[in-house]
Amino acid sequence: MGDPSRVAFFFFGNMQNRISKKEIAACTLCERLSAYCRTFDRAENRKIADSTYWAKPVPGFGDGSAQLLIIGLAPGAHGANRTGRPFTGDGAGDVLYRALFRHGFANRETSLDRHDGMRLDNVYITNAVKCVPPQNRPTAAEKRACLKWLDREIAFLHGVKIVLAMGKDAFDSYVRLEKAAGRVPRLNAYPFQHGGVYHFEGSDKTLVATYHFSRYNMNTGVLTEDMIDALFQRVRALLG
Ligand code: SF4
Repeated sequence: MGDPSRVAFFFFGNMQNRISKKEIAACTLCERLSAYCRTFDRAENRKIADSTYWAKPVPGFGDGSAQLLIIGLAPGAHGANRTGRPFTGDGAGDVLYRALFRHGFANRETSLDRHDGMRLDNVYITNAVKCVPPQNRPTAAEKRACLKWLDREIAFLHGVKIVLAMGKDAFDSYVRLEKAAGRVPRLNAYPFQHGGVYHFEGSDKTLVATYHFSRYNMNTGVLTEDMIDALFQRVRALLG
């Protein structure tokens, strides 16, 4: 398992790049998203009526020595935006953490809140956009603004070999970082395809694409548990 103290308050290589989870949580760069986050107070759903919302940017979570990085789009309004941990407390998270448990990346299959004892092994989870967006749709400018945090998280995670992007937005965000690093000539040279495996010349990371584990995709059969198992088997094989 990773060292949680390292993850709880991490630093990057030099003082200029120094950053902590607190720093991400305090970001207010996108006016619209910062304001929207703060509109959440208490859950309307009676099952979670006692919840107090995190209601600010949600930093990544997991094993600081991970070889596998999972990137989603953004916090769920009543999931990560409520609990303060990526994919925790909503339908997509239920599917994701159950799969991580089945494939030996997590010590428990249910992800309820930040204090549930969840420990991730060799995987780190984050979102391309750290604030919940209205209708789950960040603008292009918001996606670009938040790339800086994703970039810094990746810089911190020295051991990452595989990046698993959940959905086209997360996929495009990662490809944009590779483009900024000069390893992608054109964004459309990397078309999103579920199960696709992508390499970047001069990079030690491999990108794997998957449909998002959203409740909608699961309910409509776009994605199934069998497809998810096949995906993680592929990831395991790529990790070697
Ligand atoms: S989306 Fe990202 S850049 Fe924008 S306010 Fe939230 S944390 Fe900051």
